[in-house]
Amino acid sequence: MENIPVVQDYTPPFAKDGKFHVRLTEGRFQNLRRLSSWPMLALFFGLVWIQVDGRPWLLFSFAQRQIILFGNTLSWHDLPLLAGLMIAGSCLLFFMAVAWGRVWCGFACPQSIWTWLFIRIEDFIEGRASIRARQEGQPLSAGRLLRRISKHLLWIALATLTAATFTGYFIPIREVVSDLVQLQLSMTTTGWLLIMAGLTYVNAGLVREKICLHACPYSRFQGVMFDRDTRTVTYDAGRGEPRANKRNADANSGDCVDCGICVQVCPTGIDIRNGLQAACIDCAACIDACDSVMDKLNRPRGLIRFASEAQLEGLRSPFMRPRLAGYGAVMLVTCSAVLYGFTGTTALLVEVRRDRGALFTRLDEHRTCNNYRVKVEGFDRAESSIRISVSGEGVFELFGPADIDLRENNATWLPYRVCGRDITAPNSTLIFNFQGEAVRASKRTTFLAKTI
Ligand code: SF4
Ligand code: SF4
Repeated sequence: MENIPVVQDYTPPFAKDGKFHVRLTEGRFQNLRRLSSWPMLALFFGLVWIQVDGRPWLLFSFAQRQIILFGNTLSWHDLPLLAGLMIAGSCLLFFMAVAWGRVWCGFACPQSIWTWLFIRIEDFIEGRASIRARQEGQPLSAGRLLRRISKHLLWIALATLTAATFTGYFIPIREVVSDLVQLQLSMTTTGWLLIMAGLTYVNAGLVREKICLHACPYSRFQGVMFDRDTRTVTYDAGRGEPRANKRNADANSGDCVDCGICVQVCPTGIDIRNGLQAACIDCAACIDACDSVMDKLNRPRGLIRFASEAQLEGLRSPFMRPRLAGYGAVMLVTCSAVLYGFTGTTALLVEVRRDRGALFTRLDEHRTCNNYRVKVEGFDRAESSIRISVSGEGVFELFGPADIDLRENNATWLPYRVCGRDITAPNSTLIFNFQGEAVRASKRTTFLAKTI
């Protein structure tokens, strides 16, 4: 399969000193982006507040070594499932890349979504891109200074809100907000919040497209993933060239009127007419911009459109092909494996440790006792209590609470004593049995006794 060439050089054509102002545009792809980004934003800011029976619905708690995923509690032992989820997500990303290029970057990547939010704030406070570009380098008036300060304050507020929400996925959000309001945040949480807010502010407000260009590995290997049938944002040079503006257009001129609007709306500042470029995130802003120009000129839309190299050359370009089918199959297998994995998550974790202080205690001629510490951790909310008993090579009796209340003693080390009657072997097998409503577990250990 032949890979299509990707231009790696990057020089924003309209940039002064590397800085350029993105012009906002409207159109069907911008509406599509809203359709994907607004629900994602709502989920990000909303999910963290959902509680079921007083517990967060989604929480990755390092402190309690627990993951609450959609109301189900997973133990740290189930972490491979999260790795599986990530692998399934990567397969989906590869599938999308082979089919439509970097649409994930343009329509759903948090970096892009937050950058658009920050650009919208900038546009609202400081005016359109053309006004901002005109004022670039001019001395700051009092009004402009006030607007600039307001913009940065709003950016900081959004960055802080983002950081607090993100933190809420690791520490219950109500605790974070309450501690934040009362200025009682721990040093660790404060540091984490400052780092997250700072990264959001710098990423979406100041660095923007440079992350996509220089930090995101996706832009580098996209050339390997795309093929001649990948539908990416493409300029139809056959139709557009030779480009000419109103003044110098003649009968041979193409449809491109060289207005440059496709470049002005590009968040990475590139000219798509130069061909597929590593900096292009397939956001389709240039498609909407060019379509609006074509509408005004009464020419057909689609001078810039999602099209494959083969389609532009007028060749047959199948959407489903072996490479895409392969990624689709891997994605389906991975998703199925992860879904199956969720049906067998850990319901009960038990640990038994011998008391290291004394090997055994001889009570009388017949009875020898060993001390243990037992910990039970339940992950099924339906289980409120676990009954504990012992069995093994001999007659054993357990001393300690027969029922462990999981609401009070979940994951707590509890002391137990086991006494054996007429145990003659120095080492015997002892089994701790744990029984709940629907879960059970056992733990094998040794019972030590002095030979009689
Ligand atoms: S927006 Fe369309 S017409 Fe204008 S320069 Fe870009 S490709 Fe040419
Ligand atoms: S060239 Fe078009 S699709 Fe690519 S990043 Fe720029 S505006 Fe988005």
